[in-house]
Amino acid sequence: MPPDGPAPASPFGLKGRLAMVTGAGSGIGRAIALGLAAAGSDLLLLSDRDNLAPVAEEATATGAAVTTELLDLADRPARRAAVERLLDAHAVDVLVNNAGLIRRGPSAEFADEDWYDVVEVNLHAAFELCRAAGRRMVARGHGKIINVASLLSFQGGLVVPSYTASKHAIVGLTRALANEWAPHGVNVNAVAPGYVTTATTTALRSDPTRSDEILARIPAGRWAEPADVAGSAVFLASPAADYVHGHVLVVDGGWLAR
Ligand code: NAP
Repeated sequence: MPPDGPAPASPFGLKGRLAMVTGAGSGIGRAIALGLAAAGSDLLLLSDRDNLAPVAEEATATGAAVTTELLDLADRPARRAAVERLLDAHAVDVLVNNAGLIRRGPSAEFADEDWYDVVEVNLHAAFELCRAAGRRMVARGHGKIINVASLLSFQGGLVVPSYTASKHAIVGLTRALANEWAPHGVNVNAVAPGYVTTATTTALRSDPTRSDEILARIPAGRWAEPADVAGSAVFLASPAADYVHGHVLVVDGGWLAR
């Protein structure tokens, strides 16, 4: 029998927290946003398209207060101004840098824009968001930053050089910031999803050979659903992860263990 009195707060609970999630209208970002809301967090959701109403409605139904904002993270001047304005207006406790894109092509012919466009969003925008949010978190003495990495933070992949470079770099950035900000109560970590059924992997899933090769290598015997990744982000956002710094939490159905 549990003792009388109020139950202790769950170390995984996020009541009273505000989480900012980029790329929240689809895929992994949407699933992470809903996971954070289910744990009690309020949400500040960003997208470059008008696609946030369904996720906002679903999160609101769980009791979360939700604010949405349209912002193209590839637009450097616009994003800098918007990020400062948003972070001045909202005391963000948790930042999830999820927005990202991938371009495929053989490296010897890889187009300049397929290099720069990917690095701009996956790395430069993520750094600026970390810098702006981290500065405020350090001043407040607490905060959690979660960057979305990839298996291609550890492996080279095939014909996705800018994506692989950006995802290796985001892990280096995560560790660098963790070292600086851990003494100030700010946790910087990453989640590294395996192969997830989202727009990022449409090309792989529609290539029967690659799709079969990938599936055959996953010990869990299936691709991940976006919701499979959400719990790892909720953990890293929660008080349960207060002593976790600079970690990359791999959620890959066992891929890297092989
Ligand atoms: P997704 O559904 O396409 O999500 C990517 C999100 O980033 C979208 O919401 C997208 O918005 C947003 N985004 C892209 N460019 C943007 C920009 N310029 N400004 C603002 N938002 C922008 O695919 P996902 O797989 O869930 O990707 C989410 C993250 O997980 C990415 O960082 C990806 O690299 C990472 N990841 C995915 C996998 C996987 O197997 N799926 C594995 C490892 C890591 P739009 O829809 O408007 O473009």
